[in-house]
Amino acid sequence: MTRSRLAWMVWWVGCGPAAPEPAPTAPAPAPTAPPPAPTAPEADEDRLSRLNFIVFDIDSLRADRLEGGPGAPPNLRWLQQRGTLFSRVYPPAGWTLPSVISMLAGRVAPAEALLPEADPTHHRLLPGILAAYGYHTGVAWGDTLLDRHPRRLSWLSGTEPAVDYQTATGFATALKAGDVPEPFFVMLHDEDLHTALMGRHLAELPPDRAAHLARQQYQQALVDYDVGVGNVLSAMWGAGLTERTVVVVLSDHGEALYEHGALGHGDLLWEEVARVPMLIVSPTASGARRVTRAVSTLDVAPTVLDLAGIGQHAEMRGRSLVSALSGGAAGRDDRAFVLDSDMNAGAVVVGDLKLLVHPHGCDDAHKQPFPPLQGAQCVALFDLATDPLEQHDLSAARPDDLARLRAALQTGLQARSTPALDEYTEFLSELQQRGYWEAVDPG
Ligand SMILES: [Zn+2]
Repeated sequence: MTRSRLAWMVWWVGCGPAAPEPAPTAPAPAPTAPPPAPTAPEADEDRLSRLNFIVFDIDSLRADRLEGGPGAPPNLRWLQQRGTLFSRVYPPAGWTLPSVISMLAGRVAPAEALLPEADPTHHRLLPGILAAYGYHTGVAWGDTLLDRHPRRLSWLSGTEPAVDYQTATGFATALKAGDVPEPFFVMLHDEDLHTALMGRHLAELPPDRAAHLARQQYQQALVDYDVGVGNVLSAMWGAGLTERTVVVVLSDHGEALYEHGALGHGDLLWEEVARVPMLIVSPTASGARRVTRAVSTLDVAPTVLDLAGIGQHAEMRGRSLVSALSGGAAGRDDRAFVLDSDMNAGAVVVGDLKLLVHPHGCDDAHKQPFPPLQGAQCVALFDLATDPLEQHDLSAARPDDLARLRAALQTGLQARSTPALDEYTEFLSELQQRGYWEAVDPG
């Protein structure tokens, strides 16, 4: 099996208008603690803040689920009202491994960076850097593909093994028992929202029914996950950690729920997949702030290091967002955000313009090569300011913009070619066997 023969498990139903979003069927418990009062940052003698960090990495979380309204369950909404919500965040990849690893690296890093063959000092990851400054590092993968990864713990911890808390609730239990040394960095990853793992039965249903069920399952999974968030928040408050703990909520990619006739992610790079939310609740910043300027998940690691008082790491290419937490600017409008999916699809966003290059959204007669991407691709240009649902292709009407973004995307993709290591290919085979994706003939 080669990567060129892999495609993401997507189900096409060509459904009509979206069915109404189902309401959560069971309310999650809200945290019992009152909101933490903002406090001024304190710098100790060596400038280290010793702030703790809890990262809720909710796999496949769409940006619209943290924007308030009925989509946000109570504990995540509670956090949203107390933090800075970056509502337009682009990860560098459309699937989990390269996206999560790049987020922790603060730069685009291939999944292969985790393998034993790779130079562990070349891709320095956030937890290992923090561990070098005395941080306790922990993780909860749950039953996820990251839990199956050959280096699932070592790559998160640097030289010392990270503690495996199994689940968010497992971490909450340890917090309550006083078993989590400070300062700590704990990443709580969960794949319950991952519709690709929900089964193939949806493909056998009428389009409208499949879309309704997919959205219902997705929302229910988010409500269920929110219970674990509440457990952690309550434990954090009970342990007296609220005023020295930063809480981050983010995702590695979004999820298509049939907005464009398909379900899943991977080589689907419409905005419902390409855009994720990021919420940062810091005791050093006031809350209920919203930042709409686009940023990257590559900015997470530099932001954490900045908040920790460690400062910018030389290998990282992301940018600290700490000033934005206090009302400052969050980067520049001309920043280019490049996404890819194992060279099967790509996209770039510059300002309000987006060039989308993936195997979906057009018939075969309109597909074209787009090196270094593999296979034939559909190429479309969208103005997200006037067409946020990506319905009107402007590539014929705006040839200069098309050429500019084409050059930006190809330049970004050229820098991402990675070797296909045997162990990595074996890992992809295991994912395939679990139904995570399916092999298809690329034609
Ligand atoms: Zn994922």
